[in-house]
Amino acid sequence: MKKYKKISIPKDGEKITVDNGKLNIPDNPILGFIEGDGIGQDIWPASKIVFDAAVKKAYKGKRKIAWMELFAGDKAVSVYGKNKWLPQETLDAIEEYVVAIKGPLTTPIGGGIRSLNVTLRQKLDLFACIRPVKYYTGVPSPMKRPQLLDVTIFRENTEDVYAGVEFKAGQKETEKLIKYINKMIPGKIRKNSGIGIKPMSEFCTSRLVSKAIQYAIDKKIDNVTLVHKGNIMKFTEGSFKEWGYKVAKKEYRDFIVTEDELWSDYNGKMPKDKILIKDRIADSIFQQLLLRPNEYSILATSNLNGDYLSDAAAAQVGGLGLAPGANIGYHTALFEATHGTAPKYAGMDKVNPGSVILSGVMMFDYIGWNKVSKIIESALKKTIKAKTVTYDLARQMKGAKKMKTSQFAKAIVKNM
Ligand code: NAD
Repeated sequence: MKKYKKISIPKDGEKITVDNGKLNIPDNPILGFIEGDGIGQDIWPASKIVFDAAVKKAYKGKRKIAWMELFAGDKAVSVYGKNKWLPQETLDAIEEYVVAIKGPLTTPIGGGIRSLNVTLRQKLDLFACIRPVKYYTGVPSPMKRPQLLDVTIFRENTEDVYAGVEFKAGQKETEKLIKYINKMIPGKIRKNSGIGIKPMSEFCTSRLVSKAIQYAIDKKIDNVTLVHKGNIMKFTEGSFKEWGYKVAKKEYRDFIVTEDELWSDYNGKMPKDKILIKDRIADSIFQQLLLRPNEYSILATSNLNGDYLSDAAAAQVGGLGLAPGANIGYHTALFEATHGTAPKYAGMDKVNPGSVILSGVMMFDYIGWNKVSKIIESALKKTIKAKTVTYDLARQMKGAKKMKTSQFAKAIVKNM
């Protein structure tokens, strides 16, 4: 066992381990949590009350979470010192203890860190950003029938624009690069252009698409769509599609049917118990989610497409306040609120903890405690349906009773 300087390992908990590619979950697993900056101080304690109550309700004391605090963001600076926003031991502990959950983190200005969230994902190789998007009855939405949307987006988390290289217009090395490219393809790039390079590989595409298909198999979901812009960028986006189909046919042949095969071999009639693998161009999928949302269940996307798509889809069902997320690698998993730190509301016991609570639902599913996730989700649904909600939802709902963050959490517990 590693020694940590500032992290106290709970004495009443056991470590989650990985055996033969499978998670081994003790009855008292140690789960890491990062409270988060800004409204983290409001939404994390509220979420923890909900999590602990649901575990107690489900297992009557036979199972219990041993929470282990990990530090990142402002709190890390106060514990570890100046500029220590993301201490190495936080990364080590997430890796060693396999599963953790976090609140939002401020992006530090200066100090050379682009974003703590992006750094966490890249350093821990959490290559899939998973965002389920679905509607909860009563949530104000701009759509006529928001309940038709129920998708889970698997967004590649390590390459494409996240690993992009940029060259500023007018600089010496940029002009050198332009000259080099124009030598190969005459007249291709205008002088004084800025240049961006985005890498996409078969290795990273395949592991992302595999995870999406495996999820479909595990959850008995019957379609996975590869989202790309391959009509314009053939060797990155187009290859994403090709590599996606390749890994689907190679690793999951008995489980899947491609859209082409559906017509060539099955006369358009979907065979029972198979997963349909289809692909859509990025701009078309935005239309499809608005016009035919119920034809899509899992979307596997490259980094930038997935970025746009997850927020747009969340807006269709009522916004980011209730949007959960997870960043998952081969086994290591970090669940997170998808919104930011909303600093102007910090410490006011005002905002919606729903995003962290639903990330917890994903976390309990991930460790196989489905009874807990069902209890939380159904109590949350009941609480929203009863119009006992935080300000963000209350101001858009007729006849709603406005709750503080902590009151909303207590109401959820009462509804379990
Ligand atoms: P933000 O999401 O923090 O806030 C934008 C607005 O959304 C808020 O003013 C508030 O009106 C609303 N909002 C956000 N969360 C809410 C909640 N739980 N309940 C009710 N309303 C909520 O976005 P921002 O202002 O662009 O970013 C603030 C900071 O957060 C920045 O430092 C940014 O880098 C960071 N950030 C972190 C994450 C993350 O940790 N995953 C994500 C986005 C932004």
